[in-house]
Amino acid sequence: MSVTTATPAATSPAAAPAGVPAPLPVLGRDVTVPLVTGGEVTYAALDYAASAPALQRVWDDVAAYAPYYGSVHRGAGYLSQLSTDLFENARLTVAEFLDCRAEDQVVFTRSTTDSLNLLAAALPAGCEVFVFETEHHAALLPWRGARVTFLDAPRTPYEAVDTLERALAARDTDAPALVCVTGASNVTGELWPVRGLAAAAHAHGARIVLDAAQLAPHHPVSVQDLDVDWVAFSGHKLYAPFGSGVLAGRADWLTAAEPYLAGGGASRRVARRADGGVDVEWHEGAARHEAGSPNVIGVHALASACKALTEAGWDTLVTRENHLIDRVRAGLADVPEVRVLSLFGEDAPRVGVLSFVVEGWNSSHFAAALSAEYGIGVRDGLFCAHPLVRTLLGGDPESQGECGAPEAAPGEKSLNAIRVSFGAGT
Ligand code: PLP
Repeated sequence: MSVTTATPAATSPAAAPAGVPAPLPVLGRDVTVPLVTGGEVTYAALDYAASAPALQRVWDDVAAYAPYYGSVHRGAGYLSQLSTDLFENARLTVAEFLDCRAEDQVVFTRSTTDSLNLLAAALPAGCEVFVFETEHHAALLPWRGARVTFLDAPRTPYEAVDTLERALAARDTDAPALVCVTGASNVTGELWPVRGLAAAAHAHGARIVLDAAQLAPHHPVSVQDLDVDWVAFSGHKLYAPFGSGVLAGRADWLTAAEPYLAGGGASRRVARRADGGVDVEWHEGAARHEAGSPNVIGVHALASACKALTEAGWDTLVTRENHLIDRVRAGLADVPEVRVLSLFGEDAPRVGVLSFVVEGWNSSHFAAALSAEYGIGVRDGLFCAHPLVRTLLGGDPESQGECGAPEAAPGEKSLNAIRVSFGAGT
């Protein structure tokens, strides 16, 4: 079996045309790796959608702070005060990065998964949740205990809004409702019509949370402009791989909910009762859901990345990324066996994330060969969005393809795909 393609990109990087901005400096860009076919090559990490490399600027900011690390919110000493300032200033930076409303709250979490689980734990009683089946599992699965409506995969952005409209219009209760939607798909990279979905949600009295895990690293996200109620994203996809995440948005549901984690930091006052138990008064602000010693380095790194992207300028970043997307599309289009996966059409606006299958090839073998023979690191599998990838592959939605599962036999439909993803450091 062979694939008709030209010289691999990793060994022949074409110079960017005039007017295409340079990438931002990132760690790990010039790593040299051995090839099984002999020799070595400068490794191309094209798996940003899983975890992006740290920006050099983020690394420098972390290194500058590390010698002065101290406990946050828990000490009178200099280092503790410094860390507390850093942590709280990071909150302001993130609020600015997301263009939050004055009344919004920024809660620091571990990741997008953690943020959405926090919101799920804070849903008001009887809340209904609406979510497209196309979502990443982090957005699809946290709503345990709520009545969840899974919406069918739309084939156009218009159909997405229409599908949501109809589902909300068909509600037979006045119970609170939440819509959870991605800004950019982690499988196709396609941009979702967030403004239209937010308008539809609000028109029917529902709220909306934006899963910006794949959007925030590539495009500006404005809570006010998109008119969403919450935004969730992860530091490690935003060039700050130190274990932090964000849930930003309306405070009311979060304040009314039990603390996500119970413990120090979340509690304002704890006292023994005469009957032997304890009375607890919980904090109301972000601290209510941030019990325990927080990840100040991770949060500092995340704020540093927010600043670096803002200072680089979104027009500059998007111009470069669109150039890369066009190059990848053109390269894939040159290979007749390649089929790019898409819901909204191959030319739909997207971020730097593309998934594809290569006819006659096992996706896992293909991805392994890209790494071993060409030094190109991509991902294969179902990308934690099993229903979406199965739909895109045209298979039975209940078929058994799994992340990393063996591929279909030659001539059969692929059970998984290959994903190439890149960003500001590519
Ligand atoms: N949402 C989307 C669209 C993602 O791509 C991912 C991660 O791949 C997540 C949520 C979950 O992010 P994390 O693993 O950082 O919690």
